[in-house]
Amino acid sequence: MARRKKIYEGKAKVLYEGPEPGTIVQYFKDDATAFNAEKRATIEGKGVLNNRLSEYFMTGLGAIGVPTHFIRRLNMREQLVRAVEIIPLEVVVRNVAAGSIAKRLGMEEGTAMPRPIVEFYYKDDALGDPLVTEEHIIAFGWASQQDMDDMVALALRVNDFMSGVMYGVGIKLIDFKIEIGRIFDGDYQRLIIADEISPDSCRLWDVETGQKLDKDVFRRDLGNLTDAYTEVANRLGLMPKNSATTGPRIVN
Ligand code: C5P
Repeated sequence: MARRKKIYEGKAKVLYEGPEPGTIVQYFKDDATAFNAEKRATIEGKGVLNNRLSEYFMTGLGAIGVPTHFIRRLNMREQLVRAVEIIPLEVVVRNVAAGSIAKRLGMEEGTAMPRPIVEFYYKDDALGDPLVTEEHIIAFGWASQQDMDDMVALALRVNDFMSGVMYGVGIKLIDFKIEIGRIFDGDYQRLIIADEISPDSCRLWDVETGQKLDKDVFRRDLGNLTDAYTEVANRLGLMPKNSATTGPRIVN
């Protein structure tokens, strides 16, 4: 078989040219990075879990009418997605203070936000993805005013969906990051959710105990990351019944 053309390799995923024009194969690696890649590790099974979890969330979003790039999962580590033009922003929604906002504004982690807060960070590893405002985004042409409105609406819909799904299995959605891409139908442009939605890009706390079930387990050395992600997949019913003893095997 001809070798696939690699389009891009990021910290946690590799993108390959897809089988049809306008498609991409997204491969989930086991690599974990934090603090702008200052901390790195390979965590066996993480890619398999994130592939399945992202499929689950993207499929659910599609089912309630939130457009995403997801087409179908191909195997344990790969999914077929629509090629998009990525908007160079990380869109973060926060329900509860944690991480960078807690530090920046001197808030105690765990403090509820008065309402969901939507933030934008400019995607630039060399700059450490700085927080930017609507002024910067529009003045520098990263997105239009209409895009801004659409991005906020999309991000809040994802927040409502993800909060509900997670609450249903006893997990509080603290915050998350999404990436948004443009697709073109002729001259007409639409924004859709791209990249991945997984415990790598969310903060997830157990409702009862506050236990962290997300990438902070790796960032803050709180235990085994695969166990935390497996717990999320388990609660969502994505693991086989005997998975507790067999590691991250995934239900197809
Ligand atoms: O670090 P910070 O508190 O700004 O992160 C907010 C949310 O965005 C967290 O859920 C974090 O996992 C996610 N995030 C991400 N990728 C980044 C930065 C943040 O997925 N580069």
